[in-house]
Amino acid sequence: MSKVATRFAPSPTGPLHIGGVRTALFNWLYSKNQNGNFFLRIEDTDKERSKEEYRKQIINSLEWIGINFDGEEYVQSKKIDDHIKVAHELLKKGNAYKCYCSSEEIEEQKKRAKQKKIPYIYDRKWREKKETDAPKDIKPVIRFKSKIDGTSILKDLVQGDVEIENNTIEDFVILRNDGTPTYNLSAAVDDHQMNMSHIIRGDDHKINTFKQIQIYQAMEWEIPSFAHIPLIHTIDGKKLSKRDKASTLDDYSKIGIMPDALRNYLLRLGWSYKDKEIFTIEESIKYFNLEGIGKSPSKLDMSRILSMNEHYIKNMNENDLFDQLIEYCNKFKKEIKTDKEDKIRKSLSFLKNKAKTLEDIFINGQYIIADEVIFNQDDIKLIDERAKKVINDFKVQFEKIDQPSREILEPVINGLIKSNNTNFKGVGQPLRIVLTGSKFGPGIYDIILSLGKKEVQKRLDTKIA
Ligand code: GLU
Repeated sequence: MSKVATRFAPSPTGPLHIGGVRTALFNWLYSKNQNGNFFLRIEDTDKERSKEEYRKQIINSLEWIGINFDGEEYVQSKKIDDHIKVAHELLKKGNAYKCYCSSEEIEEQKKRAKQKKIPYIYDRKWREKKETDAPKDIKPVIRFKSKIDGTSILKDLVQGDVEIENNTIEDFVILRNDGTPTYNLSAAVDDHQMNMSHIIRGDDHKINTFKQIQIYQAMEWEIPSFAHIPLIHTIDGKKLSKRDKASTLDDYSKIGIMPDALRNYLLRLGWSYKDKEIFTIEESIKYFNLEGIGKSPSKLDMSRILSMNEHYIKNMNENDLFDQLIEYCNKFKKEIKTDKEDKIRKSLSFLKNKAKTLEDIFINGQYIIADEVIFNQDDIKLIDERAKKVINDFKVQFEKIDQPSREILEPVINGLIKSNNTNFKGVGQPLRIVLTGSKFGPGIYDIILSLGKKEVQKRLDTKIA
């Protein structure tokens, strides 16, 4: 068999959607697993809807999640002449014909089908007519002469044998009357010219595959293998659409989901290998196969994305976590001043424990990052006379400590619990509020040690109530 080659072929008519990223990922992993190549083809033949900003967004998204393509990106619009040539070849071979139906006529047929509640299918009117019958004032489209009799079977690598009645595939347009090629023609020609061995794409392209295979057969080209991946649904089982919130990668990176975690989640969305959940890039390349792709739609579940991200946050090297945090903050203009960076780095060991996202770390670390303590107004109300006394007592003791450490602080706090006749909360809560502005947050020892002696003293002096 020839070398494995796959491609991802997005149209830059909108931002890349999470479902598209999964398709790209599966194609990429399959080619890497097979020591093959993976290409990116920008299908920009719809000039009106294709936008440069979307092309950039697609490329950035792939880069962000770690999918790199081989060679140069392939730009479909640059190959249009090749597509047109094939249309004329098909015409010459008798596999295509000119259709002179006016747009009114087609509209009429569509309307009638709608009234009868049957799917519209072109009535093949010009299939056998002679050129001499052609009206002079109408520019024809070129239609492919699809098979009418019998059935076709697609040996799909995910879905198994898929059979259809040939007459359900209409004589589809391959060249519009303005001379431009349609998607099915361009895709088939490009896939052939790019030597694709495997076409892995969404389930919604199954009918297109039957059309494209007929083009391959008519041109006597080698037919690639096909794998159709079930679509992604929302948590309530509806088809995921571009209108759904959280559909682009930016929606995830914005809240501090990390690329490795999202990639791992997408890999497991509709694919499995034994009961393994966590895959490094190397492992995903090693284990990826088409047999592991499930046949039913998978549901996009935010809570699982968050737990995957949480897993990565808790288990990754803290230096890497710090780098990711800084990258995230830079990207989304969340400021951590240079002099605070080191404190944050040292605090990751505990800040990460209560975080599912990088945003959580940024928020939980605010008591270090912000120049001034921002007090929660409800929590301030908890600072009564007893609490003030605890704070004061602590201040007196704390001043005597040269180098605070957990070993030194523990007996001090325990002493305060006793002398104030209270429990751990009775001491911890007022201190946490005065030092961070909130009764929630990291443990009191972590707070004190992360702020350092001077800063703690400064904050203990704050008049808060
Ligand atoms: N441009 C098509 C799409 O975005 C490509 C489909 C294919 O993979 O052939 O759906």
